[in-house]
Amino acid sequence: IWRQAHFDHLTDLPNRLELKIRLNKQFSNSNNESFVVMLLDIDHFKDINDTLGHHYGDNLLKVVSQRIVNSAKNAEFVARIGGDEFVIVFNHIKSTRHINQIASNILQSLSSAIHVENEEVFISASMGIACAPEDGENTEQLLKAADQAMYKAKNNGRNGFEFFSRDMREQAQARMLLLKDLRCAIEYKQFELFYQPIVSLNGLHIHKAEGLIRWQHPQKGLISPIAFIPLAEETRQINAIGQFVFSQAIETLTDIKKFTDDDFQISVNVSPVQLSTANSGIDDWYAMLDAAKISPSSIVAEITEGLMVNPEELTQKRLKQIVKSGMQLALDDFGTGYSSLAYLQEMDTDYLKIDKRFVDNIKADSQELSLCEAIIVMAHQLGLKVIAEGIETPLQYQLLTEAGCDYGQGYLFSKPLNKSDFMDLIAEKKVILSK
Ligand code: C2E
Ligand code: CA
Ligand code: CA
Repeated sequence: IWRQAHFDHLTDLPNRLELKIRLNKQFSNSNNESFVVMLLDIDHFKDINDTLGHHYGDNLLKVVSQRIVNSAKNAEFVARIGGDEFVIVFNHIKSTRHINQIASNILQSLSSAIHVENEEVFISASMGIACAPEDGENTEQLLKAADQAMYKAKNNGRNGFEFFSRDMREQAQARMLLLKDLRCAIEYKQFELFYQPIVSLNGLHIHKAEGLIRWQHPQKGLISPIAFIPLAEETRQINAIGQFVFSQAIETLTDIKKFTDDDFQISVNVSPVQLSTANSGIDDWYAMLDAAKISPSSIVAEITEGLMVNPEELTQKRLKQIVKSGMQLALDDFGTGYSSLAYLQEMDTDYLKIDKRFVDNIKADSQELSLCEAIIVMAHQLGLKVIAEGIETPLQYQLLTEAGCDYGQGYLFSKPLNKSDFMDLIAEKKVILSK
């Protein structure tokens, strides 16, 4: 019973509990000797499990654990602390160079083909390294440090290792604080929806606007969505934010309809989390529109391509619902991801938004211009309208217009505006809005 509680039955290695007991012991040995933990996580292990099955995954893990044990000969011990996570502990390590070498050896040992059940697979792993006592005063801190370093290694493109650094701790702390503040931001009404006009390139009429969220932080000032949307997605607070955005969009549409009967559209950015979470609120949108007497066609949902690659059933169902209701779909940031024609067609997309990164480098006779021209022709063939994002110069505007692009959005026309400035802008151009 003791063995079962302290050792992993699959690999026979110490488990998380046993690892903690041993590390606690190391820390309490008061002679303050330094030691090193390496946290190793296999890259894309979930894909292997999903495609080849759990049984296969289990057998693969056995081979991996063998290879780690064999290549980390002078390790104190190797532990398996979760699905595809291993921790390797070393005492008496002399230098950083030495650690580097060991870490490279371990990763190297995993890189040759692995044969399990007549299948050959190639894997890689990412590793985070933390040294005691500098990087953590106790077991928990030290493992957390190794974990943070491991995530850095993943972000750097996987198949590598990273050392924990003070910076990482500071970043992690800043993140924690931001998360805490984010939790009450809705309640304290710190969010505001800004609007950036989308204009038709021939005629410069304002036809649409994209809703862009802003967070007015009481101490830190205006925080960019780029800084907090990923956090909000991780904690699913994006669902509440998404509902806020949607209700603001309806309110603004209602105000706009008061002085024009034009079919003005507001587009909202929809996070994949909103589509995949069961009770995200997205299913209430139809009733919300109905109650406000706003036609679904006044809303454009901006989604990214990532969504269309292996979408979960619920996501798929909701995308279809959106299309069926009469809301329109725009594919955001086109050109930065998979950019697959098949997805475009499959999803009944109405608009394709060319990413700012392409627009940035458009010059006469440039490759970027050729790319944009090709995208525009292709989109038109598929029955989609094209919106170019991030137009900042008259030249970009001119070249895109000549290329046949339908709509533009960017600082050249207008920055994102708060509601009152935005309403002033479209009221001024009332003539443009009415038919
Ligand atoms: P996005 O959907 O690609 O939005 C366009 C971004 O480009 C906006 O940044 C906009 O202010 C900026 N932009 C537009 N024209 C120009 C230009 O001419 N020059 C430059 N330099 N920038 C331009 P913003 O507002 O910071 O939003 C960043 C991203 O945050 C958005 O990228 C979107 O992915 C996300 N986001 C914003 N609001 C929401 C929201 O309500 N929900 C969700 N899920 N995501 C949002
Ligand atoms: Ca967008
Ligand atoms: Ca975009």
